[in-house]
Amino acid sequence: MHLESTIRTVPDFPKPGIMFKDITTMLKDPAAFRECIDRFEQMYRGMGVQKVVAIESRGFIIGAALADRLGAGFVPVRKPGKLPAAVLREEYALEYGTDAIEIHTDAVLKGEKVLLHDDVLATGGTMKAASSLVERLGGEIVGLSFIIELAFLSPRTKLPGYDIRSLITYDAE
Ligand code: AMP
Repeated sequence: MHLESTIRTVPDFPKPGIMFKDITTMLKDPAAFRECIDRFEQMYRGMGVQKVVAIESRGFIIGAALADRLGAGFVPVRKPGKLPAAVLREEYALEYGTDAIEIHTDAVLKGEKVLLHDDVLATGGTMKAASSLVERLGGEIVGLSFIIELAFLSPRTKLPGYDIRSLITYDAE
């Protein structure tokens, strides 16, 4: 099965010029959905992952399923104001302005082995901020995982030193 063939590219969403990688066409296909989770499970099984930390909101879908497969806990990273208890916040630059993400301060314990997950790695700004949150809590990052990597945006230069794994890589838009 070519997982890549189940991903839909939607031009000009959410704004002109963006080629949006839509994973809903993969998620609704039972065989593709399972293959996606199977492949991540094979990559990370045996690495002692204790928490899967995933980014709102599309990261939650595979992140939660993978946490269950790995026997790990699931931790959501969310947009500001969504998490109810004490949080750490990290701000990051967008093309215009800034955005922020938050994590509960008790979500990751010092020394815990953490796998981070999101659906798409684009510029890398979001994952860099999420990695900082986990490290500020003392978590040990064992890997950064993505369904899709937009390699032509060179996101890895923002994330030096991390073990980054993606199921599908696009070298051009
Ligand atoms: P970035 O911080 O630039 O790496 O952007 C990553 C976040 O934006 C992820 O949570 C993605 O879901 C979303 N994203 C960025 N670009 C795209 C794209 N072309 N298609 C789908 N999602 C995207």
